[in-house]
Amino acid sequence: MTSTEFRQKQRHSRRAYINAHKKSIGKCFYCSFNKCYEILEYHHIQNNKSFNVGGKLGSKSIPTIQKEIDKCVLVCPNCHKMINIGYKIKKNFNIWSWLRERV
Ligand SMILES: [Zn+2]
Repeated sequence: MTSTEFRQKQRHSRRAYINAHKKSIGKCFYCSFNKCYEILEYHHIQNNKSFNVGGKLGSKSIPTIQKEIDKCVLVCPNCHKMINIGYKIKKNFNIWSWLRERV
């Protein structure tokens, strides 16, 4: 196996690991969106991010990735963006009624 093939294989197994984790949780921590686990994102609930789980994982090992995952909750892209621009949303946040109230 060439080193390129090795890296590709590593990347695939890390991706598969993350996808399996997303699938096992299956929903947004805040609004419970559960229609598509693939789009869920990792949000660090405390300010202790070492690296972005969804980003380029480089040579991170699966145990290292798992340690980072343990610091996170899975959230849908809508909740994630709202949190990142400063909305304080709580568990059982209902994005749909929130949106309805705004239109
Ligand atoms: Zn959500």
